[in-house]
Amino acid sequence: MSVQKHAEKFSAPRKDASGRVQLVGLSLEEMQAVLAEHNLPNFRSKQIWNWIYQRGVTTFDAMGNLPKELRAILTEHYAIDRPALITEQKSSDGTIKWLLGMSDGQQVEMVFIPTPKRGTLCVSSQVGCTLTCKFCHTGTQPLVRNLGPHEILQQVMFAKDHLEEWPSSGEKEGRDLTNIVMMGMGEPLYNYDNVAKALKICMHPDGLGISKRHITLSTSGVVPQIHQCGEELGVNLAISLHAPNDEIRSEIMPINNKYPLADLLDACRTYPGVSAMRRITFEYVMLDGVNDSDDNARELVKLLIDIPCKVNLIPFNAWENSGFVCSPMERIESFAAILENAGFDAPIRRARGRDIMAACGQLKSASQREKINRV
Ligand code: SAH
Ligand code: SF4
Repeated sequence: MSVQKHAEKFSAPRKDASGRVQLVGLSLEEMQAVLAEHNLPNFRSKQIWNWIYQRGVTTFDAMGNLPKELRAILTEHYAIDRPALITEQKSSDGTIKWLLGMSDGQQVEMVFIPTPKRGTLCVSSQVGCTLTCKFCHTGTQPLVRNLGPHEILQQVMFAKDHLEEWPSSGEKEGRDLTNIVMMGMGEPLYNYDNVAKALKICMHPDGLGISKRHITLSTSGVVPQIHQCGEELGVNLAISLHAPNDEIRSEIMPINNKYPLADLLDACRTYPGVSAMRRITFEYVMLDGVNDSDDNARELVKLLIDIPCKVNLIPFNAWENSGFVCSPMERIESFAAILENAGFDAPIRRARGRDIMAACGQLKSASQREKINRV
């Protein structure tokens, strides 16, 4: 299925159950068009943006500098609310996982990972995933639908509420939420338009004001969208590589049959803005006996030698009946040493939130595809 067709088939509802249209996720121009429908002037759109993204208000009544009549119109027709909190789980290491309910009842998971240096929010782009990477729990859940731009932003805004991160600029010192990674449920480049729209508002100085240098998009390798992502958004790129050759990669990641390594790595070499200062991150899950031998490490060195990059080695996070086992730590260390001796940074990623199934590849909601018929 083409990316376009795919986007149409799995689109997100913009109206909530009461028929009100979500204003979160509208660009300034779209906001102006909404106001024009009610014969209202352009300059109000900047004010409304400011209330939504800088101040984080969730009702129009809180927008003090808008005339009462305008607030009444907005309240009648529009919404700026948040996803519903279904469950919250806190790990012993401080990681928080939220299960969020969207306006049509679909659910996604989001994870906040605090470290002494930064706080990273792992955001979802789809409910489920169409891809079926064998080691990934999300991949066992069929795609229910894409998330809309509003739903991607609402995740970040929900976390900002929870972490008391308003206003978005100035005033507040020592922010907890500093980084965003599109590494939750779903393949962001199969929902590129919505992800791009959301990230543009995320990065806009009058939007949430989070710098592109603090945003990373992770893809399993949807080659046709990679260049566009760099050109339009300029965010950091992470590639779920997980194998040093096509044979192993196709075995564990079926998308490799469509976009094999040569094409994928070409897209990385030419990713806009890539340099020794702005490296690509390759993610490599360590699977016992599958992709973790010293020969595999040497093959990987050859494969990546001309790309400014680092390799994140991720111990496999187990889930029931996955059929995979994590490589032993000595194996991972030996693999890392080969990469490091060849000049690569190859940190071994410490799993966060394992006790609450919040680690990489463990996210899966109870949403079922059938529910799509209800909306
Ligand atoms: N779909 C995108 C975004 C998800 S990011 C992508 O695949 O890149 C989640 C990261 O966790 C990806 O690198 C994914 O390959 C990795 N991952 C998936 N399952 C995992 C598991 N069980 N253990 C460790 N990492 C896993
Ligand atoms: Fe989808 Fe990424 Fe999981 Fe693959 S690793 S199934 S692309 S979420």
